[in-house]
Amino acid sequence: MKAAVLREPGNISTHPLQIGEVSQPEVRPGQVLLRVRACGVCRTDLHIVEGELPVRLSALIPGHQIVGEVVAGATAELPIGSRVGVSWIGGTDGTCWYCRHNAENLCDGPTFTGYTVNGGYAEFALARADFVFPLPASLDDLYAAPLLCAGIIGFRALRVAGVEQGERVGLFGFGASAHLAIAVLQAWNCAVYVATRGESHRRLAAALGATWVGTENDKPPVALDRAITFAPSGDVVIAALASLRKGGVVAINAIHLDRIPQFDYDRLLWGERQMRSVTNMTRDDARDFLRVADEIGLRPKVTAFSLDRANEALLAVKNDAIDGAAVIVV
Ligand SMILES: [Zn+2]
Ligand SMILES: [Zn+2]
Repeated sequence: MKAAVLREPGNISTHPLQIGEVSQPEVRPGQVLLRVRACGVCRTDLHIVEGELPVRLSALIPGHQIVGEVVAGATAELPIGSRVGVSWIGGTDGTCWYCRHNAENLCDGPTFTGYTVNGGYAEFALARADFVFPLPASLDDLYAAPLLCAGIIGFRALRVAGVEQGERVGLFGFGASAHLAIAVLQAWNCAVYVATRGESHRRLAAALGATWVGTENDKPPVALDRAITFAPSGDVVIAALASLRKGGVVAINAIHLDRIPQFDYDRLLWGERQMRSVTNMTRDDARDFLRVADEIGLRPKVTAFSLDRANEALLAVKNDAIDGAAVIVV
C-alpha cells in the first residue's frame, strides 16, 4: 500500500515524510482493518514529524483523524463496509487507576494513533475495534476527518474550561480546533471573543459570528468567564489568563508549549482563577461531540491534499497558511 512514513524527524520544510510503498498491515483479534478514505492533519502530527515529541517508532505512519471503511476484522457491531472514525486515543490499558476512575484520557498505558502505532497517512490502517466511532451519515469523509481530533479535543477543552450556556468565552488562536469550537459555543448561546494572529484567521472568525475579533496582542473588551488557548505558546496562555474575571478558567489546548513565562501571581492568578491543560480525550468525549456535530450540522472549512502532498499539508499547518483544517484525501 502507499503510505507516508517518518523515518527521521526533521524540519517540515525538508520533507521528512517519505511517500512510498510499504506492506499492508494484517488484522489481529480485536482489531479492524480500515481502507482509509480521508485523514485530518493535526498540529500534533507536526510536533511528531519535527521531533518535538520523542520518537516512539523507528518507521512511523502519522495521522490520527482517520475516516475509514471496515474491510477486515468485522464484528456484529461493525460489519464490512461500516464507515468509522479513529482518533488520537487508539487504546487504553483499561486497568490503571485512571481507566477505573472514568478518566481514560489520562491512562498510564495508552496507545496513540499515528504516534505509538501507525496512523492514517496511508491507504490502509489498523484500529482497535473498541476505539472506533461510527460516523453520522450527514458528514461526508472530508468534513468528518477534522472532527476526529480538532473537533473532539476542542469540545473537551470547552468541558475542561467549564463553559456554561450564555457565557463569555475567549478563543486564543483560530485554527482547525477553534473554528469548530465556535460553532458549538454558538449553539450554547455563548458570546465568543477571538484573539488570533493572521488576517485571514480573523476574517474567518468574524464570518463565523464571533462577537469580537482582535490580534494576538489585543485584549478582549470585557472580562471573560472562560478562555481556551490553541497556540503552542506560553505567552498566549498568559494573555488568556489576563483576560479572565475572578474565578475564570483558562484551558490550554496544546500538547506542547514553548515555555511558560514568569507571570504576576497577585494580578493574574489570585482571585481563584485557574489554568488547566487539556490532555487527550475519552471515548465519551468523542461520541458526545459527534452527536452534537450531527445535531448542529457542523461543517468544517477544509482544504484537501493528496497523500503525495502530506509534507505540504503539514507545512501549511505550520505556517497557518490555510483557514480551517487540512485533510489528506486517500
Ligand atoms: Zn489506563
Ligand atoms: Zn490531534
